[in-house]
Amino acid sequence: MTATPAASSVRDAESTALFTRASKVTPGGVNSPVRAFGSVGGTPRFITSGSGYTLTDVDGNSYVDLVCSWGPLILGHAHPAVVEAVRTTASSGLSFGAPSAGEVELAEEIVARIAPVEQVRLVNSGTEATMSAVRLARGFTGRTKIIKFAGCYHGHVDALLADAGSGLATFGLPTSPGVTGAQAEDTLVVPYNDLDAVRAAFDAHPGAIAAVITEAAAGNMGTVPPVPGFNEGLRALTREHGALLIMDEVMTGFRASATGWHGIDGVAGDLITFGKVMSGGLPAAAFGGRADVMAHLAPAGAVYQAGTLSGNPVAVAAGLASLRAADTDVYAALERNSATLGRLLGDALTAAGVPNRIQNAGTMLSVFFTEDPVTDYDEAKAAQTWRFPAFFHALLEHGVYAPPSAFETWFVSSVLDDNAFSRIADALPHAAKAAAAATAP
Ligand SMILES: *Cc1c(COP(=O)(O)O)cnc(C)c1O
Repeated sequence: MTATPAASSVRDAESTALFTRASKVTPGGVNSPVRAFGSVGGTPRFITSGSGYTLTDVDGNSYVDLVCSWGPLILGHAHPAVVEAVRTTASSGLSFGAPSAGEVELAEEIVARIAPVEQVRLVNSGTEATMSAVRLARGFTGRTKIIKFAGCYHGHVDALLADAGSGLATFGLPTSPGVTGAQAEDTLVVPYNDLDAVRAAFDAHPGAIAAVITEAAAGNMGTVPPVPGFNEGLRALTREHGALLIMDEVMTGFRASATGWHGIDGVAGDLITFGKVMSGGLPAAAFGGRADVMAHLAPAGAVYQAGTLSGNPVAVAAGLASLRAADTDVYAALERNSATLGRLLGDALTAAGVPNRIQNAGTMLSVFFTEDPVTDYDEAKAAQTWRFPAFFHALLEHGVYAPPSAFETWFVSSVLDDNAFSRIADALPHAAKAAAAATAP
């Protein structure tokens, strides 16, 4: 459903004009769908600048940013150390198409921080990381099928845009036109947090499953952490059946904790994918894992994978500067800020009589309009998501930029301070009231 706020007090003439122009030359007016505000209605804000926790749009409105470019910006916008690293590196050339020292340093940083990663390959997006990891898993095992979980997002990889929704293990149905049945049919989609369904899928396809891919903690159906024992169970089942476990840490990596979700539950994927935080805000991502598996990747091995701009020196410098600046104080601040935001959200909604449940995965969090625990995609969809557009737009009008979808994780930065939280605290009662007044479709 869509909802346009009544009499908006926020100026949006310039954003509206740009969106009209953009819609003529770009499908839907945006370069990534969720930016179009499709599920909340209204006009997306065109941003001119970001500084610390503040976003400023073309109409001069400023917002406390709780999206942080969908996760990467744990240090807030335009962090001096990151900007300086980008400036210095860029002045020596933007791309060489030949190896450079920064790539080695970033790889060493990832290998040093994430124990199960012995080798790593740099790519340009999380999508490329998961696509390449799946190809490598198939090449390594000589098997074709992949198990994924309903509601888990791994980028727009053809084979992973399959989602059978609820029910037991079943062949994936493409969720996008343009993905062929053949591409989807090697993908088995089972409910998240359901080990019995995984077991049944292995039993139904003996010797055929190359890998299980899972978000280390799910953040793309809202925040839905694995129930205790789930990731451990995946580890045991994949071992038992000779399949690989791909832990997608594109969102959780260096965000859920300093060592990602692996640092929280200790379950080691054979392959692990990274993106978002490790990019520092430029296009960079990575996949890595067991050296004996990574050895199958070209040019060491036969599984092909390449990239003109992979390991780009400027992107690598931003990522390295960002990871190096993210010390224990930064992670302590992220934890504190995530807890404060969760408490403010819950208190405001409860005071307005709106059923709510705040879920966390490390420093990631999201709010569901339900009182029941949400452990899978069906439960996430069963919440009162129709309250979200009104909630979102009231926050926006009061200067708080929340993710424009009920199924997205909220991302704090380390630089949110008392002033930021008092702006959030002032905005929330209006938003909670709007959510309370929303009516079911
Ligand atoms: C964002 C995300 C991706 C895709 O990364 P892109 O850089 O957008 O291609 C993959 N997996 C997970 C878990 C993500 O959150």
